[in-house]
Amino acid sequence: MKVQNVCVLGATGSIGVSTLDVVARHPDRFSVYAISAYSRIDRLAELACTHNARVVVVPDATAAQDFAGFWPGGRPMPEIRVGAEALALTAADGEVDTVMAAIVGTAGLPAALAAAQAGKRVLLANKEALVAAGGLFMQAVRENGAELLPIDSEHNAIFQCLPEDNERARAPVQPAKGVRRLLLTASGGPFRTTALEALHDVTPEQACAHPNWSMGRKISVDSATMLNKGLEVIEAHWLFSMDADRIQVLIHPQSLVHSMVEYEDGSILAQLGQPDMRTPIAYGLGFPERIKSGVGLFELARMRQLDSEPPEAGRFPCLSLAYEALRSGQTSCINLNAANEVAVDRFLAGGIRYTEIPRIIGECLERLDSTSSVPNTLEDVLEQDRHARAIAAELCLMRA
Ligand code: NAD
Ligand code: MG
Repeated sequence: MKVQNVCVLGATGSIGVSTLDVVARHPDRFSVYAISAYSRIDRLAELACTHNARVVVVPDATAAQDFAGFWPGGRPMPEIRVGAEALALTAADGEVDTVMAAIVGTAGLPAALAAAQAGKRVLLANKEALVAAGGLFMQAVRENGAELLPIDSEHNAIFQCLPEDNERARAPVQPAKGVRRLLLTASGGPFRTTALEALHDVTPEQACAHPNWSMGRKISVDSATMLNKGLEVIEAHWLFSMDADRIQVLIHPQSLVHSMVEYEDGSILAQLGQPDMRTPIAYGLGFPERIKSGVGLFELARMRQLDSEPPEAGRFPCLSLAYEALRSGQTSCINLNAANEVAVDRFLAGGIRYTEIPRIIGECLERLDSTSSVPNTLEDVLEQDRHARAIAAELCLMRA
């Protein structure tokens, strides 16, 4: 078996580190070719050394200098590449077989798209890339013979529950045969039962304290507001060619059922497992084979409850905003995602209250014209993204 060269975009993050953990368990199958990070360059140097990366990508010259300073020595330093363009070129590098797209936010779109355009196996964690540019992305996968493996646990679960057909990693344009609905599960986050009046005063630390998953800060806040689930509805629309009204969200507080596929005959197939991202990552790396992920036994005998309930609209207004954006079209999805990135960033920095996040997104969607033509190129998408960010930033200042 040829050893696969892996490139991990966003290697210092929660998904990046879990990916390197799985990769390191299979030296006979995988080798780390390139890793990237935007900050915490000391950590990048440590990871590059441990995993023997041949290339690292950093955002600027200062970070490159820092990297050299942090390099422990004793072994040759990896090649250092600098800047966003180098990141996209590395994702498309002829040496690379598999790209883990684990940068957070639209910032990860250009490199993830470059990987698809270069016909790589793309393990997609960066859901914002699909929300902002689903059409472009799926087309790039189809036209360039790439393989797309969803890593988001819900989409990975759905992918696993679809009919066994290796073509399902090739961006199908039709829903899989016999499927009635996709059932996306959500934990409900840390504020599922918090009194609604108390949400006004919640802190970033409280919002980031997810009950079941340990994740980066932005997705943790998104899970609290359930905008994360909204982004995932849009993501599922693109990945599985499903309309909004065939994608249902359920709250399942134990996070053991990662999502389900309901078939025309009434059967529902679910994928269960511990809330550990190494399972979907290993699935994507090994597909169609199953490989070890480091996740321990799941003691079904100890499982007492598998609850589910519908999400309360009044508690999670972000979820309805995402459905509205999906129904209204691609430009609205870009606006929704951009406004959320700005609002969450401001909330995490202490600039706005938690309860302002849905208001800013809602206002941004109202203010911006969603009827403008569908963005057909990466540049169009990024232009619309910048425009929405500017409006959202203004709204944040007004509400600070
Ligand atoms: P994180 O914040 O832990 O890590 C983000 C990584 O991206 C870091 O390596 C960081 O240096 C890099 N990065 C940040 N801004 C960048 C920029 N402007 N340019 C280049 N690199 C940049 O995030 P995470 O929790 O690992 O999530 C990564 C992605 O995976 C997100 O899109 C998230 O929605 C998705 N995801 C995460 C989980 C999870 O369990 N953490 C689950 C499902 C999906
Ligand atoms: Mg998810």
